[in-house]
Amino acid sequence: MFKPLNILDEKHKILRQKSKEVKLPLSKEDKKTIDQIIKHLTYSQIEKYAEKYDLRPGMGLAFPQLGQLKRIIVIVYEYEDGKFQNYVIVNPKIISHSEEKIALETGEGCLSVNREVEGHVPRYARITITGYDPDGEKITIRAREDLSVAFQHEVDHLDGILFFDRIDKKKPFYNENEIRLI
Ligand code: ZN
Repeated sequence: MFKPLNILDEKHKILRQKSKEVKLPLSKEDKKTIDQIIKHLTYSQIEKYAEKYDLRPGMGLAFPQLGQLKRIIVIVYEYEDGKFQNYVIVNPKIISHSEEKIALETGEGCLSVNREVEGHVPRYARITITGYDPDGEKITIRAREDLSVAFQHEVDHLDGILFFDRIDKKKPFYNENEIRLI
């Protein structure tokens, strides 16, 4: 039986707090939560399930969005039509990044932000991120383009940052000469 996750809305102060590092390997309970997140994110990106369960499409979630201040992020990335790659990183750290910045042309969205927020969010075009898998094995991932944006968005959640914090209030939109829009 699938039950949609209860995701906190932006008004909850917990989303503004800093999450704590997690001991490894993860507990059974945390692993179960990760499985639920993966299922929710996957279903949310498949139209018939999204409709059936009334899910807003999303590719990433961080534990604080469930009210748990733990440094764990999950991304379900549709790399090809109908094909998904899951990423789970515990205690993630962005250890290097490109000089080049990009932004999603249509702006970012967030499962905790239930309204349209207009504006470009500047992000690094490429990053290297390290951390651990749920069993405590060290992992290193290189990400680019939209996947790089997703990782940066989720890591921000662990530090209490929401995507619109990074939109320049005075000049919310960039042109192609200032930043590469994807
Ligand atoms: Zn988010």
